[in-house]
Amino acid sequence: MRFSDDFLRKLNRWILGLRGKPFFEALQFLIIYLMIGIIWIIWSDQWLAAIVDDYSLFIQMQTYKGWFYVIVSGLLFFVILRSRLKVLNELSDKLITQATVDELTKLPNKSKLTHLIDQRIKELKASNQYALISLDLDDFSNINDLLGYHIGDQLITSIADQIKGLVHRHDILGRDSDGFVFFVDLEGKDDDQLISFLEEVRNVVNQPWNVADQTLFITCTIGISKFPKDGRTFAELYKSTNAAIHQLKDKGKNDYHFFTEQFHLERVERVTMMNELRNAIDHQQMYMVFQPIYQMITHRAVGFESLIRWESPSFGDVSPAVFIAYSENTGLIHLIDEFVFESVIRLRKHLCQNGFGHITMSLNLSAKGLVNPILMKKIEALVEKYEIDPHYIQIEITETALISNFDTAIENLLFLKKLGFSIALDDFGSGYSSLTYLQSLPIDTLKIDRSFTKNIGQNTKQDVILESIIRLADELNLKLVIEGIETQSQRDFLVEHNCLFGQGYYFSHPIGLDEAYQLMGKDLTDTQSKHSNDMI
Ligand code: C2E
Ligand code: MG
Ligand code: MG
Repeated sequence: MRFSDDFLRKLNRWILGLRGKPFFEALQFLIIYLMIGIIWIIWSDQWLAAIVDDYSLFIQMQTYKGWFYVIVSGLLFFVILRSRLKVLNELSDKLITQATVDELTKLPNKSKLTHLIDQRIKELKASNQYALISLDLDDFSNINDLLGYHIGDQLITSIADQIKGLVHRHDILGRDSDGFVFFVDLEGKDDDQLISFLEEVRNVVNQPWNVADQTLFITCTIGISKFPKDGRTFAELYKSTNAAIHQLKDKGKNDYHFFTEQFHLERVERVTMMNELRNAIDHQQMYMVFQPIYQMITHRAVGFESLIRWESPSFGDVSPAVFIAYSENTGLIHLIDEFVFESVIRLRKHLCQNGFGHITMSLNLSAKGLVNPILMKKIEALVEKYEIDPHYIQIEITETALISNFDTAIENLLFLKKLGFSIALDDFGSGYSSLTYLQSLPIDTLKIDRSFTKNIGQNTKQDVILESIIRLADELNLKLVIEGIETQSQRDFLVEHNCLFGQGYYFSHPIGLDEAYQLMGKDLTDTQSKHSNDMI
């Protein structure tokens, strides 16, 4: 049972009889005491004078009267103070228990744990070894949310009761939100023994639990840090175990993990990168570069793939493959997608105004962006705002993006196509690549991953696969772009096999906007038919 603040305040007032500021209340108490004293003196003097005639007896009675008053008022004070202190003590005991013990499991709560463990650490010598073990019940909040808090409470109480039996008397066990924390003496224990203890704990948690006529299954994720190696206070050790738990949760829970400095650095790095990334987005420090896509026979740039670039203050140039993957785990990817779309749509407007309307601009859409309805609305609004025809903007998506949420992805692709964009399937051949579903996708272009190009002419089996993809794309009426062409021989092989379009360092690295304009200008002045090279 928890006392509300209001209730405690009222109780406090009642016990102490206080209703205002302590100084005035005490003053009030004093005045009452003095007034009773004065009344007593006056009244008792009059009463004594009326019944005692003898002066010496009168003086003696005065002394007794004084003693009587002191003893009676002292006793009265004693009784009042004793009864009030008794209630106050009970109340403060209750408050201390409430503040330090978890009501369900009767184990020390987090603040008591901090105190107990820090106290124990103070008593330890440098040679002592302890392990702080944080056990987090996986998805415990689901049990509370779906089955109700009373079931969650019963489950955690049952688990606590069994876990208590596993710890030694001098080890510390406490409750921490959705789990438990142990501080275990490693004296005479090697890692194998510690691991078998962890297995024992996990076996307890992983067993089926009968709660309110239901059988429940739950798993746990355990992080371990060691004193003094990974921290010298509870706070430091706790931070390390939590870091270890987080790494496991990323990988899939239900396991245990020892804290490692390497992992810690990776996390610090990740957090730093995220902060810088956020800052870069807010301050528009990202920019786009453009890699030409060539019509191979005529050696003319017919389109450009827009690729995002970011120079981090701490890490230098970071590959988009890295920071896009990082930002996909946070909300940042939505801002990046928006930035990319707005940049390319604005550029499309500019190209049209400068006579380069026939040039196709590609952009990459993230997996998360592809299934984000808000982004779809924003894209629609951008098309209206810049008054462009999106026909010459090609959106590149990957197979992985499709697979994670197929139905919504297809729905959104159809929406984008309806707006006028063309769609390319990027990095084909690098992932789940299925030839059979190609015909059912609303795509216009297939981009073959550069891992294919790397082995061209060296691996006959792969050449055969490539040839069949080329044929299939032709039959399905899909444009084909081969990525990662780095050599003349790769280019020649592809031209021989009727591939029209290619992209790669052999033709050009990604370039800045000015250089891209120069390249377009050069191609435009070329007297060869400038419209026959359209990709779409
Ligand atoms: P991608 O979409 O497949 O882009 C092609 C990547 O291959 C680019 O790397 C490009 O520089 C590189 N490349 C081009 N030709 C060659 C070559 O001949 N040899 C080799 N070894 N590499 C070549 P980049 O710019 O580092 O981008 C890597 C990936 O990051 C992209 O792969 C794409 O998945 C993602 N990405 C890049 N920009 C964006 C963006 O604006 N938004 C999103 N969501 N993802 C992006
Ligand atoms: Mg791409
Ligand atoms: Mg690609």
